[in-house]
Amino acid sequence: MPPAAYHHSMARSSRTLDWGFPRWRGYGTDRAAVEVRLCDRHGCSAPGDRPAPKSPNSPERWYFCETHAAEYNRGWNYFEGLSAEEAAQREAAEGRTASAYASASHYGWGAPGDGTRSRDEMRALAVLELESDATFEDARGAWRRLAKANHPDIKPDDAAAADRFRDVQAAWDVLRTAEERRAAA
Ligand SMILES: [Zn+2]
Repeated sequence: MPPAAYHHSMARSSRTLDWGFPRWRGYGTDRAAVEVRLCDRHGCSAPGDRPAPKSPNSPERWYFCETHAAEYNRGWNYFEGLSAEEAAQREAAEGRTASAYASASHYGWGAPGDGTRSRDEMRALAVLELESDATFEDARGAWRRLAKANHPDIKPDDAAAADRFRDVQAAWDVLRTAEERRAAA
């Protein structure tokens, strides 16, 4: 489904008090309880821990659960509508943010924004529904999951699945090749 149709369907089903604002709910009990942000998809009460851009030129994010992030991403081209220059600027801006986060964590894979990840790799991560700070193992897992879900044996005569399968395979090829090149360096 294209993003426009998606937004339209969400707007139609938006007649609840809490829709349109981040919803939070306590998970766990008493002292162990933590506030978690809920999925922005109407009616979903799963934790929303998968940010997704609201529109191509907006820094605003939806926060979806894994299922709804996948649903959203199926019709989503992260770089759609951006000029090459704009896309590069956004990559640089997001790289700075992600690098600050990654520096406090334990990422063995090339950190985004430090020049070791090409634009092709960033695109490939988006195709695999991953954030720019995803690890190589994250990528492998996403590739296996998406390739299996869209495999021609599973979805015969499904043109959309065939396209998705091809894109997922191509994205994995980009990431795997880059990883091998790094390992050999
Ligand atoms: Zn959800």
